[in-house]
Amino acid sequence: MINPHQTLFDDAQRIVFLTGAGVSTASGIPDFRSASGLYNQNVRAEEYLSHHFWVQHPDVFYDYCQENLYFPEAQPNVIHVKQAAFTQQNRATIVTQNIDNLYEAADAHHLINFHGNLYDLYCTKCQQAISYAEYQTTRLHQVDGGEIRPRIVLYDEPIPSQAAQAAVQAVTQADLVVIVGTSMRVYPFAGLLDYVSQETPVIVVNQEPLTLSRATLDYIGDATTYFASLQV
Ligand SMILES: [Zn+2]
Repeated sequence: MINPHQTLFDDAQRIVFLTGAGVSTASGIPDFRSASGLYNQNVRAEEYLSHHFWVQHPDVFYDYCQENLYFPEAQPNVIHVKQAAFTQQNRATIVTQNIDNLYEAADAHHLINFHGNLYDLYCTKCQQAISYAEYQTTRLHQVDGGEIRPRIVLYDEPIPSQAAQAAVQAVTQADLVVIVGTSMRVYPFAGLLDYVSQETPVIVVNQEPLTLSRATLDYIGDATTYFASLQV
């Protein structure tokens, strides 16, 4: 197919991609919000992935993450690759809710990991960076017994101010905004749309139409098809 929005991309210099789980499902990473609990089918991901749960049950948190979040074999797909290509031309910024490291694997520049990165691991006792290989074998730092955790934003934790400010600046200056693979229902990420100028076109690429506070240009369907047809 010919991408229906090719001209908009061709004319844009400050594109912002606002992305979520739907970008990585084609790489085999399921949306963890729909994953079932390991120990109790009634416990939701939001409960497991909270700071208070991690403090109370670090062993369960660890098992949950290993089982549901980490897919080290996953590779970037055409959506990551095309978006990364725009960033490499200094024409785009990616603001993603994904924590899977696939934009890094696609060599994206101008990347804002709004919710952190699963592979950015550290010991909470001595703050030392820990490799994923070590975390795979143990949740405790060998040196001091400290709990290791990923630098991801848990449900009861705030967005790091640097990421939040950078994201707001990017959307404020955007001349094209492209929402991909996210329902835009999780705040404060969803609130980024409020900073987009009324003159800036907003494209939605998603499996279902979204109900947003402003008019959008919609592509309802498979995002891999959409990005495969897009010329960078
Ligand atoms: Zn330590």
